[in-house]
Amino acid sequence: MFVVMASTATEAEILGVKSHILDEGLTPFGHAGAQRVVVAVVGEIGSRKSSLMGALGQLSGVERVTPISRPFKLASREFHAEDTVIRVMDAMIGDGSLTVMAGPCSVESRDQLFETADSVKASGATVLRGGAFKPRTSPYSFQGLGVEALRYLSEARERTGLPIITEVMEANQLDIVAEYADILQIGARNMQNYSLLNAVGRMSKPVMLKRGFGATIEELLMAAEYILASGNPNVMLCERGIRTFETYTRNTMDLSAVPVLHSLTHLPVLVDPSHATGKRWLVKPLSVGGVAVGADGVMVEVHPDPDKALSDAEQQLTLPMFADLMAAIVPIHEHVKDMHGDLRAWGSVPAAGGGGLSKH
Ligand code: PEP
Ligand code: MN
Repeated sequence: MFVVMASTATEAEILGVKSHILDEGLTPFGHAGAQRVVVAVVGEIGSRKSSLMGALGQLSGVERVTPISRPFKLASREFHAEDTVIRVMDAMIGDGSLTVMAGPCSVESRDQLFETADSVKASGATVLRGGAFKPRTSPYSFQGLGVEALRYLSEARERTGLPIITEVMEANQLDIVAEYADILQIGARNMQNYSLLNAVGRMSKPVMLKRGFGATIEELLMAAEYILASGNPNVMLCERGIRTFETYTRNTMDLSAVPVLHSLTHLPVLVDPSHATGKRWLVKPLSVGGVAVGADGVMVEVHPDPDKALSDAEQQLTLPMFADLMAAIVPIHEHVKDMHGDLRAWGSVPAAGGGGLSKH
């Protein structure tokens, strides 16, 4: 439930509400919106719901208490109406600018990473990606250079000034990855690894959460909720394709997830057409599509010699292809960037329903 404070509520009244919630063994999360403070009540409320709503409604400074019709709270627009903007070094994510994360699937060597980093930076990338610990379908495939790759990534950050994003696969890698990375990536295969989600939720670095290939939009938001509820507000989401009956592409990029997510949540939404399609030539049209439907950014894999790549050879772009992609998406972003507020005003996804939102 949300406790909506009166616009005139004092600090002491807000504290009074929070301490009542704490006394119930629940956790209050306050958000100061443009007009008023909203306090979300997080935890297992169970059968206390109506008595608690009544008690909170009586407290001084409270305008109303609203039950939550969605299973996610902190991720919802009802709690936090304005877009979340995440600052990472000089890069702003979710502020209306176009974020472009580019770099190799896997860091393979210092030279390979530096050549890619210099080139994607020159073409306009805003964040450098590179896998150090790789989640591979086969245990016999290249598993990444690990800590050596993290060192190359931080050297590439010094060299280019670009913040770096890399995947953390397990909680016991978290400290070392966070020592080097600017953004922690949770991969599709780990989207519902709740202990990992809680662990990144306790970190101060921003997190990019990728949608599991078998996960609904609501499950993605529930996974984000774990990170938010553990205390990390800087979460961005990434649509990277879901598994459907279609086999021509590696996955099916769910373009509708972008406006649906923007309607449901304040968190920035990116798309990853590389993993979604699995095919180099499809990355440009799907990037154009993602930007056109309002994504806050794209993540694409780029390699100086993709055919020789140690992972995802078929989908990585060459350096000139990436430059060409940038030339295509920047004008699209310019064209559509003011449209999305209007589109959101058309309406929003109805609560608990609207097509297959599941029960909890
Ligand atoms: C990646 O971005 O390196 C990756 C493995 O992607 P995903 O988790 O979406 O498969
Ligand atoms: Mn990859």
